[in-house]
Amino acid sequence: MSLEKFDAIVVGAGVGGLSAAYVMAKAGLNVLVIERGVKPGSKNVVGGRLYTHSIKKLFPNFPDGAIVERPVTKELFGLIWKDATVTFEFTDKSLVNERHSYTVLRAKFDAWFASEVEKAGALIITSQRVDDLVIEDGFVKGIIASGDKVLSDMVIIAEGCSSILTERAGLRKPYAPNDFLLGIKQVVELPKNVIEERFGLDGDNDGAAHLYFGDFTQEIAGGGVLYTNKDTVSVLITIKLNSAIDRISVRQDIDSHEILNKFISTPQISKLLKGGKAVEYSAKLIPEPSKEHRPNLYGNGVMVVGDAAGLIINSVFNLRGMDLAIASGIAAGETAIKAKEVGKFDAETLSLYKGKMQDVLKEIDMFSRAWSFMENPRLYKEYPEVIVEILRDLTTVGLYPKAKLLSTILRHTKKISTSNLIRDLLIALRSI
Ligand SMILES: Cc1cc2nc3c(=O)[nH]c(=O)nc-3n(C[C@H](O)[C@H](O)[C@H](O)COP(=O)(O)OP(=O)(O)OC[C@H]3O[C@@H](n4cnc5c(N)ncnc54)[C@H](O)[C@@H]3O)c2cc1C
Repeated sequence: MSLEKFDAIVVGAGVGGLSAAYVMAKAGLNVLVIERGVKPGSKNVVGGRLYTHSIKKLFPNFPDGAIVERPVTKELFGLIWKDATVTFEFTDKSLVNERHSYTVLRAKFDAWFASEVEKAGALIITSQRVDDLVIEDGFVKGIIASGDKVLSDMVIIAEGCSSILTERAGLRKPYAPNDFLLGIKQVVELPKNVIEERFGLDGDNDGAAHLYFGDFTQEIAGGGVLYTNKDTVSVLITIKLNSAIDRISVRQDIDSHEILNKFISTPQISKLLKGGKAVEYSAKLIPEPSKEHRPNLYGNGVMVVGDAAGLIINSVFNLRGMDLAIASGIAAGETAIKAKEVGKFDAETLSLYKGKMQDVLKEIDMFSRAWSFMENPRLYKEYPEVIVEILRDLTTVGLYPKAKLLSTILRHTKKISTSNLIRDLLIALRSI
């Protein structure tokens, strides 16, 4: 690879890198994006749910022209205990009219996004892995790929979760197992009309997101999600890595792959996916570093965006990474434009990027304790059991006189001590 010097090199054509490249190329900077996959999105085969607030800053008429699946217009929360399911569904005019989020399949979505970045004037090279950074006198001056050096004023690291270059640039310490979630995902193909009928959707412009907790994670902290696409359903499990390691070391009979199968085979989920064909499967780490392990966002000649910077929010009700990767890509791109204007690429100049990220960082801190709630084993055993039993007693009629609501609740909650109930409630209020 032999190329001229660039204003900026972006490593990785995920949503974070593409956002930075788009902003810089639009402003006339000479931008090179290097992606190790055969095409953008090819390493991100499965999909997810994209909250649109940040992408709308790049494309105000989003999703016009973009390749998305369905807007999320129905939210369902569910609790699964053995064969029983408790659900409640939320739909609202704002979900239907404002369309805060869309389901996307990344292979298609990233390919569309990359074509917009190319139209804006950036050069994207695929099937090329960046192996190292060129570092001279404490300044990042470019990248090394296949033994060739390519120089630039700035490098934007957008490598995703397992970013080696962030460590190489001296911007992060090694992570510990509790800094990761494990995401296991399957895409299940079903005819469009079957998806719409089973999920209660009214055509293409209607979509559902289902979030479940319960005994299927076998007391490993985490939950399961279904997102409806046009003619597929994304099925996702996220579990906290250290909780999985702890649990699996005690119970040899469970493995993380089995959790996805257990989720899919619960009566509630198997009914929704019946007759479907699994067309994609992937398992990937998601970084959720503690505050102490969170990478620095910038250094001399370098900025880090998206998952490589550990920008994830898991607030129990939402898993957000793509929107934050896009927000950070925009902020890094805007910073690069300013740096180019003043002709200075040192850490002090690039610190503007962190300033632009203050609101995002505050939100990440706000939800950083969500796992202290999620790691409570009672959440996967005693609580679902008690809720299911209360509902069972309230809704069935037998030979014996029924108790009133309060005595039914008190009879079943006796299984959990009052001190644990109060402690769990306080942790929930503080952390989510
Ligand atoms: C199973 C799963 C489900 C998820 N669901 C959701 C969801 O529903 N909603 C949500 O908002 N977020 C979700 N996330 C998180 C979301 O995928 C990430 O936060 C987001 O993709 C981060 O974007 P990024 O651009 O930083 O990294 P990525 O999208 O991971 O992109 C990084 C890119 O860099 C490339 N790359 C890596 N190293 C190199 C190298 N050395 N040289 C060249 N190229 C390189 C990779 O091939 C990749 O294309 C999920 C994650 C997983 C694993």
